[in-house]
Amino acid sequence: MRLTACPHCDLLSEIAALQPRESAHCRRCGSLLYQHKVRSISRTLAWAIAGLLLFIPANVYPILQLQALGMEQDATLLKGVIALIDNRLWMVAILTFLLTIAIPLVKHLLLIGVLGRSHRPSPRLARWFRYYHLIDSWGMLEIYMLGILIALVKLGDLAEVVTGLGLYSFIGLLITSIGAHISLDKNEVWERLES
Ligand SMILES: [Zn+2]
Repeated sequence: MRLTACPHCDLLSEIAALQPRESAHCRRCGSLLYQHKVRSISRTLAWAIAGLLLFIPANVYPILQLQALGMEQDATLLKGVIALIDNRLWMVAILTFLLTIAIPLVKHLLLIGVLGRSHRPSPRLARWFRYYHLIDSWGMLEIYMLGILIALVKLGDLAEVVTGLGLYSFIGLLITSIGAHISLDKNEVWERLES
């Protein structure tokens, strides 16, 4: 039996062990309290490792290439941050670096570290998983993706825009991040870390 608070109405409920794919709902407001996910740890670990591998080409290869008046310009994630620093937009540069490069990278590393060693629980792993929760909502890859799409449409009138390998890797990274988020069963991880 596990005591869980409803995220919507705060009612405390006791949840018995669930079978795979079974879910528990709040008896007062009907919100989903817990869903048993099949092979959550190995699936999330696979998504996170795939994401980490995609992180390298997403950062190294150009996301967009602009061609105008015989000139060619590559745009990578890091070059975007450097361009913001050159324009003295310090705060935007720091935020862009943190939200699109540093935090997603640390998130992947923490998740792989915790899940990969969850069969040998330790206080350090619990601390890492707590850090993961802390920064979980701060990686904003999807908002950056939206910015890339807007740039594609807007710059298309001024220059010839060619999409690069970095963009496809970035889209892959976005998909693996969503996959890891959906397949992660935080309760199961905490139960393993507790034991
Ligand atoms: Zn409720």
